[in-house]
Amino acid sequence: MKEGKDMNSEEKLESETDRIVIAPDGTLQVPDVPVIPFIEGDGIGPDVWGATRRVLDAAIGLVYAGRRKIRWMELLAGGKAHNQTGKPLPDETLQAIKDHIVAIKGPLTTPVGAGMRSVNVALRQKLDLYACVRPVRYIKGVPSPMKHPERVNMVLFRENTEDVYAGIEWESESPEAHTIIAFLKDRMGVDIAPGSAIGIKPMSRAATKRLVARAIKYALDQGLPSVTLVHKGNIMKYTEGAFMKWGYEVARERFGDRILLESNIGLEVPRGKVVIKDRITDMMFQQALLRPETYHVLATPNLNGDYLSDALSAQVGGLGVAPGANLGDNCAVFEATHGSAPKYAGQDKANPASLILSGVMMLEYLGWKEAAKAIEQAIQKTISEGLVTFDLARNMPDARELKCSEFAEAVIDRLVKPQC
Ligand code: NAD
Repeated sequence: MKEGKDMNSEEKLESETDRIVIAPDGTLQVPDVPVIPFIEGDGIGPDVWGATRRVLDAAIGLVYAGRRKIRWMELLAGGKAHNQTGKPLPDETLQAIKDHIVAIKGPLTTPVGAGMRSVNVALRQKLDLYACVRPVRYIKGVPSPMKHPERVNMVLFRENTEDVYAGIEWESESPEAHTIIAFLKDRMGVDIAPGSAIGIKPMSRAATKRLVARAIKYALDQGLPSVTLVHKGNIMKYTEGAFMKWGYEVARERFGDRILLESNIGLEVPRGKVVIKDRITDMMFQQALLRPETYHVLATPNLNGDYLSDALSAQVGGLGVAPGANLGDNCAVFEATHGSAPKYAGQDKANPASLILSGVMMLEYLGWKEAAKAIEQAIQKTISEGLVTFDLARNMPDARELKCSEFAEAVIDRLVKPQC
């Protein structure tokens, strides 16, 4: 683990007062100079993280005039960790995130079909970051395949720890796969083709309820009119169907008269209330294209949420501008929605907006809303002036294509202290 190069020796001494803590009532207590760990990431990670860090520091410097500052602390994970320690996810990294409560990371590469399991999935599971939160909102000027991308304004809460996506699976012809196939045949009377690979799809009442409760609380706190439970319960009745059932259960138990069902509302949702509705996943993909304005917060199991968040991001212009956060009760890790895009690694070319906007979410989470707003407005201004990276420039005839680092500089040049 190593601290940022630009710190003086006095700053390097971390004390307890530099740490973010969670108060007994569950609220976050953030000192003026918190230590926040970062993971640079693989592939385009160093480029997009470098750009993000510069924008975050510049906005905080401008808005708080030295009163607040982040002391960055590098943690190792992914390729860099493997090269330096022999492990893709060292225990020290996990412990440091637990100790510091809030962290931010670049994308990490996972080999497909073989090799190590996903470090991203391991981080989420080991830190119990059960809610992957992805706001999907249109930034004016970004090229989109939709006629009205501005109608898409949703926040997706995706369960992060369970489901087939959690990676409990065994290779075809492995002893474990043979054992399970034999067990299913002998004890349950289920025939599975010999030599099949096996994956397990666990979904629990407890994990579902905490995810859905978080989504409903968010909708109520933000004054959003609806939460939609997205599931494939018509086919997978006891997993996905239960997700819907447990979702309604926690809505009734925890939020009582603050919730309404779709069947008992008119066109207007009364203030202070939220409508709980549900949609089958395939139908939700259609609705996201045809009537996006009628959806506000989505709560989904892990795999549905993975597909849906990329599809929704595409509707507003692609992965390069889609931010995200992985939240638990004890810590939070902010990250871009996209992966490590290896073919653009080291070219100073990738779009850093997704990670910068994930940093904006982090600032909001810390309660540093003024700095968050300053960055959001500056990104909006930069893009609307046609200053964009290659991924957007190729669909914007009048745009000027910038490198990753130049985009960060353009955003910094447009930072203005917001009138809050
Ligand atoms: P990807 O998101 O890396 O790339 C998908 C497409 O989007 C590619 O064409 C890529 O070039 C482009 N793209 C992505 N980010 C971009 C950016 N910031 N600017 C411009 N273009 C961008 O997805 P992939 O190719 O499926 O995965 C590559 C690797 O990333 C895999 O190892 C995968 O496991 C990993 N991954 C990691 C995360 C994470 O760390 N949370 C998420 C998704 C994928």
